[in-house]
Amino acid sequence: MEKFDVIIIGAGAAGMFCAAQAGQLGRRVLLLDNGKKAGRKILMSGGGRCNFTNMHTEPAAYLSHNPHFCKSALARYTQWDFIDLVNRHGIAYHEKTLGQLFCDDSAQQIVDLLLKECEAGQVRVRLRSEVLSVERDDNGYTLQLNGAAVQAEKLVIASGGLSMPGLGATPFGYKVAEQFGLKVFPTRAALVPFTLHKPLLEQLNTLSGVALPTTITAQDGTLFKEAMLFTHRGLSGPAVLQISSYWQPGEFVTIDLSPVTSLDDFIHVQREAHPNLSLKNSLAKILPKRLVEVLQELKQIPDVTLKQLNSKQQSELVNTLHHWRVQPNGTEGYRTAEVTLGGVDTTQLSSKTMEARDVPGLFFIGEVVDVTGWLGGYNFQWAWSSAWACAQAL
Ligand SMILES: Cc1cc2nc3c(=O)[nH]c(=O)nc-3n(C[C@H](O)[C@H](O)[C@H](O)COP(=O)(O)OP(=O)(O)OC[C@H]3O[C@@H](n4cnc5c(N)ncnc54)[C@H](O)[C@@H]3O)c2cc1C
Repeated sequence: MEKFDVIIIGAGAAGMFCAAQAGQLGRRVLLLDNGKKAGRKILMSGGGRCNFTNMHTEPAAYLSHNPHFCKSALARYTQWDFIDLVNRHGIAYHEKTLGQLFCDDSAQQIVDLLLKECEAGQVRVRLRSEVLSVERDDNGYTLQLNGAAVQAEKLVIASGGLSMPGLGATPFGYKVAEQFGLKVFPTRAALVPFTLHKPLLEQLNTLSGVALPTTITAQDGTLFKEAMLFTHRGLSGPAVLQISSYWQPGEFVTIDLSPVTSLDDFIHVQREAHPNLSLKNSLAKILPKRLVEVLQELKQIPDVTLKQLNSKQQSELVNTLHHWRVQPNGTEGYRTAEVTLGGVDTTQLSSKTMEARDVPGLFFIGEVVDVTGWLGGYNFQWAWSSAWACAQAL
């Protein structure tokens, strides 16, 4: 049986980074993955350019039943530390928006960075490896793989969440947590588009592809100011993906379709300047034309000129467009979700080392843990930070 100091399950963002760090600290590391490639999600991320961190990373950008848990790791290995590493590898990048850093060229560069770092740590990478069982005894952890058994003093679970089963996602990490008596919070697809009930979807059908800036608010008051996109299944775009993490089935979201311009003020000014202009054409100056047309077909925008618009109509219109209430039918689920909410209960882990308090030598890092970031590079930063904290303790 082959023996290592550390076995890490999952060659994704967290697993690769942890393996590299631990290897460079002198540990003999075996990194296992069920896929035929390491870092598959990284390659798909950020539209192929990997939004590898966010300059505004702070604990408030993470959801967890225990919001304090992420603070220590994020403070010890920060976005600036990872940016330094990216610089050291000569990877060119840019800020797209809101502090989000993307590779200029390709996400492959981040995978290559991680592979090079693993090489520097002499990490053994074994792909296409299925873990059939995990046992713990006085020698540490013994894993039965397809065709071999391996053993290590320490075991790190970095197998990620359930989103995108097509990219190798499995519930493996949650099962190991439960096997060793750790609590796992129910999981839910997050950073995911909304689907709409059929009647509304049919009404909005022709808007597929239309995008506009919005402010979107969940029932708990959380709000995001970002773009929204109508799709043939419902609603998407950054604003919707963000709010999906705060939405519960059955709840409404409120969407301000004109977050920058006060429609009351706009109509007032327009009425003075162009009293005979149709309301529709006037609104099309600040909203996508197709949206205005559909809203008029739905009788949400009266078919009148500006001077004909009475004050009751105006206040109803302004209310509809600034506070459009939508009750999603559901989400597109794990098939398209970027992340998974919930996971291994952090109260049972050390926030300094990620080790299970009652199971010496067992560690959980990355998305399998109940820490989920906003859209915009925050999830990779959690992967880097939790992996680094863990590696120091291996
Ligand atoms: C399409 C898409 C785009 C995204 N874009 C971004 C972005 O730009 N910025 C950002 O911050 N976040 C992004 N995310 C989220 C980000 O990819 C994840 O939060 C991050 O990859 C989590 O890292 P991880 O190492 O915990 O898990 P993963 O990266 O998911 O890695 C887990 C690994 O474990 C392996 N594995 C699973 N089960 C087993 C098993 N039973 N045996 C062996 N191996 C197993 C998997 O094959 C996988 O390689 C995106 C997600 C998706 C799906």
